[in-house]
Amino acid sequence: MARIEITDLRKEFGDFTAVRESSFTIEDGEFFMLLGPSGCGKTTTLRMIAGLELPTSGTIAIDGEDVSQRPATERDIAFVFQMFALYPHMNVRKNITYPLVSQGWDKARVKAKLDEVATILGIHDILDRPVGGLSGGDRQRVALGRAIVREPKAFMMDEPLGALDAEFRERMAEELRALHDRMGATTVYVTHDQLEAMQMGDKIVVMNNAVVEQFGTPREIYDTPATMFVADFIGDPSMNFLPFDGTVAKRATSVDLAGRAVAIPAAREGAEGRLVLGARPEHISLTDDGPLRGRVVATEYLGTSQVVTLETDFGEVKVRTGADRRAAAGETAALAIDGKRVTLFDESSGRALRSELNEGVV
Ligand code: ATP
Repeated sequence: MARIEITDLRKEFGDFTAVRESSFTIEDGEFFMLLGPSGCGKTTTLRMIAGLELPTSGTIAIDGEDVSQRPATERDIAFVFQMFALYPHMNVRKNITYPLVSQGWDKARVKAKLDEVATILGIHDILDRPVGGLSGGDRQRVALGRAIVREPKAFMMDEPLGALDAEFRERMAEELRALHDRMGATTVYVTHDQLEAMQMGDKIVVMNNAVVEQFGTPREIYDTPATMFVADFIGDPSMNFLPFDGTVAKRATSVDLAGRAVAIPAAREGAEGRLVLGARPEHISLTDDGPLRGRVVATEYLGTSQVVTLETDFGEVKVRTGADRRAAAGETAALAIDGKRVTLFDESSGRALRSELNEGVV
């Protein structure tokens, strides 16, 4: 078990900075996601937690002990690089017990431990099979078995499902999460897939360009994005951005969007200049009357809902409606924005303005 506290972590490679002053805490037993686009510094952060890379500055504390400058071998963390990295010439039993045998465990202890791990993973029936002939799923279970058998304090996983096709990926994601819930070991998991992060994670750190943009539960990240980057990266379709020049007074409950009043959650800070009103597609509905109008340019039917794209004075807006709503291309409709769910951003900083919606988060 491990609580991992990251404070002002920084990594430079020559004059390139891969991770900049990152701070977040991974609570004991959490399934924790490091999420962000390619090159944002996720893997470098994970490798620093595991001790495979030493930080340039900042600290990593495991259960209150500063391990920042200690090598990987002294951190008791299992790094699951690639689920399929197994010894092909050995059978399943040998693949799993190899770390124990090489540590000099006696036979009876090895057997008892193998039995326990095989039960957790449900792989008793394949223990004597060579790994070469196993299905992808079984191979992945064996690779996990080899990590679990050591009883590390925490698991680090770098895009473990990256190479799998969509359907199998979803099944393995569920299995991994269920396994974690049974074992309760702290797990840090790198992904660039926002849906995977939302579905699997207890907490998510969203990174971009070497910095932590936001850190929170999937619900906090989705409902109250701290920046325009997070609002755009999380959700599919992503949040609509309606830019406007305007003023928001402290405690205001509406903004003037080019002559049209739109309700907002009560503002906790004022701002003026170039602002952006952010609204998720499911928080906008199509109505017959209203000052904010758009012309339908596309409809994407998804069975249980549909996504209607409209052209407005503020650019393209996507609305998620019930599947029964008819919306023909060329039709004009009024847009009703749910004023309780709106996030306002300062366009130049990209930062969300504080409001009753996100107070305490930003
Ligand atoms: P990806 O999903 O593409 O792996 P990532 O978010 O995991 O992306 P990192 O692998 O952490 O990103 O890399 C962050 C940046 O640091 C990249 O620009 C990468 O080229 C650079 N980088 C990583 N390792 C090194 C290294 N050893 N030397 C120099 N630059 C490095």
